[in-house]
Amino acid sequence: MNIRIHGGRIIDPGHYEGLGDILVVDGRIGAIHRGDSHLDSQKDASLPYRIIDARNKIVTPGLIDMHVHLREPGFEHKETIETGCRAAVCGGFTAVCCMPNTRPVNDNANVTRYILGRASRADLARVYAVAAITQGLEGRTPCDYEELKKAGAVAISDDGRPLLDSRLMRSAMAKAQALGLAVISHCEDPYLAEGGVVNEGPVAADLGVAGVPNASESIMVMRDIALSELTGAPVHIAHVSTRESVHAIRRAKARGVAVTAETAPHYFLMTDEAVRTHGADAKMNPPLRSEKDRLAVRQGLADGTIDCIATDHAPHAPEEKAAGIEKAPNGVIGLETSLAVSLSLVADGTLSMAGLIAKMATNPARILRISCGLRLGMPADITIIDPHHEFTIDASVFKSRSRNSPFVGTRAKGKAVLTMVGGRIAFEEFI
Ligand SMILES: [Zn+2]
Repeated sequence: MNIRIHGGRIIDPGHYEGLGDILVVDGRIGAIHRGDSHLDSQKDASLPYRIIDARNKIVTPGLIDMHVHLREPGFEHKETIETGCRAAVCGGFTAVCCMPNTRPVNDNANVTRYILGRASRADLARVYAVAAITQGLEGRTPCDYEELKKAGAVAISDDGRPLLDSRLMRSAMAKAQALGLAVISHCEDPYLAEGGVVNEGPVAADLGVAGVPNASESIMVMRDIALSELTGAPVHIAHVSTRESVHAIRRAKARGVAVTAETAPHYFLMTDEAVRTHGADAKMNPPLRSEKDRLAVRQGLADGTIDCIATDHAPHAPEEKAAGIEKAPNGVIGLETSLAVSLSLVADGTLSMAGLIAKMATNPARILRISCGLRLGMPADITIIDPHHEFTIDASVFKSRSRNSPFVGTRAKGKAVLTMVGGRIAFEEFI
């Protein structure tokens, strides 16, 4: 069915911001009428269109979450590709990138094809596979990147584990550049971080657990910047959490290094103090940091040092998270809360609405070289946001199989009310 999205405020970062109507024809953007258009009730009623009333709403390119753990294959008790994709579309995401730390690891074309096949059967959000840099994520033997690219991978990463071998990282970056694959780096010095449960500081001391110092992240951020300078190849830094990382990336960008970066909502909205109240539901890797770090991450978002907001959606079953702060696995879910909590950056003036949409859609697309935007002929991947909708984040309505979110109970303003993937409505509510 063809659709006319009527009267919304269209925000296509870098291209158009203003009122308009979008016609969706055969899954693509068939026409865009800019300005304050009026429906011709007689003429429009005769057309085979569904009219979606988007007045007082924001119409954006479909949001892309470039850092998600879908857990399938191997950990279906935490999440499946289908439940993860359902959570994605409910959160306004038309596409997600899934990390390779599944069981088996996505280090060969069979696993990549399996994941993409499951995703297409789920038929909800688009799934872009991130394949491993090294076989089994073991940091020793490089994967066959050409084969992975042919199978559909868009990026490589050993996320969850740092790649310590700098020589191997150098050659992976060079090979990935030649193939047009992005390299996403999980920056952590595991020796420095070893045994750490939460951020090194007063909270760790009060809880009587070992801490993870900021340097365990920034040392590896600086190494990857050095390798990017050495190779001339781009590198994308995952989940930036510390002020030292922000400073290093800012300086590198200023001298023209091809480094990009993402952070996650918990790093700009929470500090390690949240562990006192949320316990293991506020435990992730890298950990929540200090107020100084939180403010530096916000500054990095505001001045463009940090290009993207991703969730690092990392589902874990309730019984796993109930194991106590020391034993519980790292990670929080985020697909169904990211947009709502990130809109606070617009409310407090840190980002413009177009700036936020760039960080949640067009910038990730640019880094991953995937389609994103509201222009004639493009696939109709569209998110409609009601910026006025106020609600309390409620875990009981999550479509994710897991519940491990420190944002449960938070009041939020703004919500995706319709998510369209290739012209098909994958989610709608309150519209
Ligand atoms: Zn990671």
